[in-house]
Amino acid sequence: MYQVRFYKGDYQWRQKQANQDKCAAYVEHHFNSSPSIQSDYSVVITGYNASELSKNWGKSYALRISREFGAPLGGKSGLLIGGYNGRGNGNLKYTYMPAILLEPLFASNPIQAEWIRSAEGQDKLAKILADSIIEFFPDGSLIGFSVGHKYKTSRPSDRGAPLNGGGVEADYAEIVMEKAKSVLEKFSPSAVPVTPVVPTMPTNDIRVIKDGKELWVHTDIDEDDELIWDPENRVLYISGQST
Ligand SMILES: [Zn+2]
Repeated sequence: MYQVRFYKGDYQWRQKQANQDKCAAYVEHHFNSSPSIQSDYSVVITGYNASELSKNWGKSYALRISREFGAPLGGKSGLLIGGYNGRGNGNLKYTYMPAILLEPLFASNPIQAEWIRSAEGQDKLAKILADSIIEFFPDGSLIGFSVGHKYKTSRPSDRGAPLNGGGVEADYAEIVMEKAKSVLEKFSPSAVPVTPVVPTMPTNDIRVIKDGKELWVHTDIDEDDELIWDPENRVLYISGQST
């Protein structure tokens, strides 16, 4: 019920493509960086023009990160509107749908950089992102993803900040987003058990039941009718001309 599409090109172009596709929500993924290796807070950026929904979604994501990774909340309750002195605003302001820019952990922090490089840390980040989308956009539909820095037409070699100990921001943001895409596209609300349909009295009806749910029923059957299931062609023959 979710479909995730990655948008590439310059940031404004990505947002306009997502508008055209009528995405239900838009996420750009970064990792933060600071000259101080101690910086360790979790923050989400929204545009200056962001809706309340974007802000609440961003706060909720930042809070989940803070709890799961034991990182303090940055900004105001985890939110930095407009980004750092306006940096980040242009990454989101052209979107028509709720949009957030994630800065969950610091690439410059040695402990957090290890988390970012580990499959376990990536899975955790991906699940938190997917869960926040499922919570705020329960009706599913198309979600737009943008990997920060990577795939820009204007600066194709940009990969963002280096990770302390090796690697670069954008490559890990992409890994996390790919994992989140896979979680979202596998998600099914019907994984909730369905009450099985069981006939209360013996009848001559013929039913087709899939995973406990009745798909088709035929009631005009006599107990003398002959039923022949052809397993090869998967056809059930009903013959009332008993001989
Ligand atoms: Zn970045």
